[in-house]
Amino acid sequence: MIELNATHDPALTSWVASANGGATDFPIQNLPFAVFRRRGSQEGWRGGVAIGEQIVDMAAAVAAGVFAGDALAPARAAAEPTLNVLMKMGPKPLSSLRKALSQALQTGAAEQALLQECLVPQSQAEYGLPCQIGDYTDFYTSVHHATNIGRLFRPDNPLMPNYQWVPIGYHGRASSVIVSGQDFHRPRGQVRAPDADAPVVKPSARMDIELELAVFIGQGNALGDPIGIDAAEEHIFGLALFNDWSARDIQPWEYQPLGPFLSKNFASSVSPWVVTLEALAPYRAPFTRPAADPQPLPYLASAAHSASGGFDIQLEALIETPKMRQTRSAPARLALTNYRHAYWSAAQMVAHHTVNGCNLQAGDLLGTGTLSGPTLDAACALIELTSGGKNPIRLPNGEQRTWVEDGDTISLRGWCEKPGAARIGFGECVGTVLPAKA
Ligand code: MN
Repeated sequence: MIELNATHDPALTSWVASANGGATDFPIQNLPFAVFRRRGSQEGWRGGVAIGEQIVDMAAAVAAGVFAGDALAPARAAAEPTLNVLMKMGPKPLSSLRKALSQALQTGAAEQALLQECLVPQSQAEYGLPCQIGDYTDFYTSVHHATNIGRLFRPDNPLMPNYQWVPIGYHGRASSVIVSGQDFHRPRGQVRAPDADAPVVKPSARMDIELELAVFIGQGNALGDPIGIDAAEEHIFGLALFNDWSARDIQPWEYQPLGPFLSKNFASSVSPWVVTLEALAPYRAPFTRPAADPQPLPYLASAAHSASGGFDIQLEALIETPKMRQTRSAPARLALTNYRHAYWSAAQMVAHHTVNGCNLQAGDLLGTGTLSGPTLDAACALIELTSGGKNPIRLPNGEQRTWVEDGDTISLRGWCEKPGAARIGFGECVGTVLPAKA
């Protein structure tokens, strides 16, 4: 586990003024990575590090000679058009780079003169996916989500008997993971009405969101070599926001017996900025479950994991309807939750995914599943918030929503905040649903 070090010192400030003051998602204690270029340009994609409202252009910074020693190789990797090489290096080189960036961006740093020529305002940037995602696996780690969904189908027995023993997941599709800001068309698919004899093909009428976190894999494992629970986090590069869009009318017709398919793989939005586990170190949390529940099997448990396998991350989903956009009213909150409510941790997802010898690779994405909390206002999908579509949500401007409508924009946000540590955030994960193609 990564310990606290000088880079987490809440007293640190940066010569980049917008990084200071506590309001930004990207103070000097965060330093997340993305892939970017200037919007509308033909520039090459390259890695960048967020600092306040700016991006440290890693390609420019490497060319300017800012990095040396242990930080040079990871800095070069961070300058590439994808972060896969950096991810594959593992936590030590990543930590060396973080230390160098922290020192170079601090108030009074000798590197300021060189490095300020390497800044690009975030307002001028467009983002790519942070890495080439080889595989995407989606889990189901919120017991509250699993119970809420299960109750819709099996009121007397909402939670399946395997849930407390095995981290449930399915293999998703990497090709349709899109970066925040990229819009997509409402999917079509087979839908069968409850009283109909046959299905029809039509645009989904039950578009939903799933507020999740993306866990990006760093160094992988060889085929046949499971990753133990206490080594699992050495294989995690970092976390990002993730909206796993879902078509709730396509899903029930197609999902038995092999699980979700086309209801899930038309688009999944990920935020551009990946927050490293090292940045999250001040926000570690104990990870335990009620004593009356079955406790995790030995390969999913350890003393260290119980002590600090969780993360205290606040998560929020907001909706902006076309009418809100026209009237310039603020987006409305749909849900507010915390990653601490998860029943299975990020480390447990990695240990479980590899217990059979399955090999993970740098850049693989593990979705946490919808991170609903224990109360209805912490439910992170519309299917829960509307009780399966029965109770529409009333928005502050008088509009109602049961499902996501054409033109609606969904934004996810995430942040960590507590006394004695710098507030850090994840930026945004934004997506707008366009009308189905004719
Ligand atoms: Mn999902």
